[in-house]
Amino acid sequence: MKPATYITTSWDDGHSSDLRVAALLTKRTSRGTFYVPMSAETSTMTTAQIRELGSGFEIGAHTIHHDVLTKLANETAWREVAGSKSRLEDTTGQPCRMFCPPKGRYSRPHLAMIRRAGFVGLRTVELGSLDFPRRRAGLARQRFKRTPMASLHSPETQSRGSPCDAQTWTLTE
Ligand SMILES: [Zn+2]
Repeated sequence: MKPATYITTSWDDGHSSDLRVAALLTKRTSRGTFYVPMSAETSTMTTAQIRELGSGFEIGAHTIHHDVLTKLANETAWREVAGSKSRLEDTTGQPCRMFCPPKGRYSRPHLAMIRRAGFVGLRTVELGSLDFPRRRAGLARQRFKRTPMASLHSPETQSRGSPCDAQTWTLTE
């Protein structure tokens, strides 16, 4: 028997247009996970909007301030990882199980933090990747095939035809 095919979408950065996206997904009975920081370079949803979104869709953490983990001291990175989970759970009243590191940048100590904070999975992107899927230490790829990522890149990036994969991982020991 052919395995079931699942199609999921993910949306980053918590812009208020996410509510419009959610309405469109609902109309087409499609699912999505929204990775929402509490603040970012662009405007983000209010707590009431996050709560509304969380009533129908999974909300994953994306740090508190949309900070790139690899640019932070470990103590600050930990606050961003663990704090984003607790803030979202306080806001939505639901468990926050997935984490997405901003810009797809993280290192091994961040994986340990993400696991210690209680996340069960990691969603990330690999900019410029043309590699085949591979195992990584501490991560097991879910049985998803590579998925393309659509995003609003700068015209310069688009003209270079920069490939980008979105990947979902389950955290392992
Ligand atoms: Zn982001």
